[in-house]
Amino acid sequence: MLLGCIADDSTGATDLAAVLVAEGMRTVQTIGVPDAGTDPGDVDALVVALKSRSIQPSAAVHQSLAALRYLQERGAKQILFKYCSTFDSTREGNIGPVAEALLEALGEEQTIVCPAYPTLNRSIFRGHLFVGDRLLSESGMEKHPLNPMTEPDLVRVMASQSRRKVGLVRYDTVRDGADAVRTRLGELRADGVAHVVTDVIYDEDLRILGEAAAGLKLVTGGSGIALGLPENFRRQGLLGRHEAGELPEVDGYEAVLAGSCSVATRGQVADFLNGRPGFKLDPQKLADGDGAVEEALAFAQERLKDGPLIIYATAEPGEVAAAQTVLGRERAGELVEAAMAKLATGLVERGVRRLVVAGGETSGSVVSALKVSALRIGQKIDPGVPATVSVGDRPLALALKSGNFGTPNFLSKAFGFMPGKRP
Ligand code: ADP
Repeated sequence: MLLGCIADDSTGATDLAAVLVAEGMRTVQTIGVPDAGTDPGDVDALVVALKSRSIQPSAAVHQSLAALRYLQERGAKQILFKYCSTFDSTREGNIGPVAEALLEALGEEQTIVCPAYPTLNRSIFRGHLFVGDRLLSESGMEKHPLNPMTEPDLVRVMASQSRRKVGLVRYDTVRDGADAVRTRLGELRADGVAHVVTDVIYDEDLRILGEAAAGLKLVTGGSGIALGLPENFRRQGLLGRHEAGELPEVDGYEAVLAGSCSVATRGQVADFLNGRPGFKLDPQKLADGDGAVEEALAFAQERLKDGPLIIYATAEPGEVAAAQTVLGRERAGELVEAAMAKLATGLVERGVRRLVVAGGETSGSVVSALKVSALRIGQKIDPGVPATVSVGDRPLALALKSGNFGTPNFLSKAFGFMPGKRP
């Protein structure tokens, strides 16, 4: 394993994994810090997905250090701490405290701070983060419910959450190339600067910075900074070029579980049902016991051999509101999530090995019911949603989609991106 990554949330982890795969690294994403004995298989990059963005800084540091130990035990040569491209954080953290704890644990003096990704409209000039044409603090992020970003100057933001000195590599230096950046980093290091914000205007700048960061044990940034890191390993002869996202073949029955009620998912469910079998779950029936889940599984058992089918709780806003009035918002959600967990295990017992799941929370409960602890990342199905195969003895092909992602025919086309076939 070459590159060990620690991501502060799970969609960010998948986003990073997709960049690494596109740059030719065989990549596995784990769900939380795996048990010490968990073997991710033969990989070039490992992305540990944490949920540490909005928790207490001390807890975020604790989890991140546990992730670091797991990655070090597997021989990671470089660590990437991945956070949001809008630098989502509070006055206290968690970017500064985590970066400092990682530097200390690695015995390092300096790292770069680079959330930029011009392709995704995030650029940095004179240390100021822009979202499209607007400063971060005028981008809407100033009103974020958990971590409002009211200061666009990343040098100041980082200084407010770190004990060590913060500096800047200006665009003028980045434009001069990797050697110029390395020289500047050296000067700043001599000055005691631990965190170096880097200007970025074009994606090409990320490749220059990636090259300049070859000697840093810790790099921090958004998924964009990963663009330039794989090439460093190639220059050293450590990394081949792997076909983007090769996955092992997984054969078995095909099913979709949909627990998202987002606009995109509602359209996708309607599209899938046009010509394919489906079973609709009613939260109020779920409240009466396991009868509805058993009925859904019996429905599936009869039809799986004929092709993919869907079991869904996806409903129009009026139906959701009605269920919530009777059951309460939380209980309605919990009932559906618990049903999805049972359905996932029930379907797998009936021979399903190829599964598409719609909904962020829904995916979380399915993955945990199926005891999936790590995913090998494959080809992109749609932006933000790769095909994956679970790591372990009995692999499953999975596409986990957050509610609003994907084109209208996502639920049927996803199976085409999963190597393997149905019996
Ligand atoms: P998304 O990614 O669109 O946010 P999630 O799976 O994260 O989807 O969240 C959807 C939530 O709505 C889940 O908690 C799910 O259990 C709940 N839910 C799904 N269907 C219904 C329904 N018919 N009535 C009430 N709640 C529902």
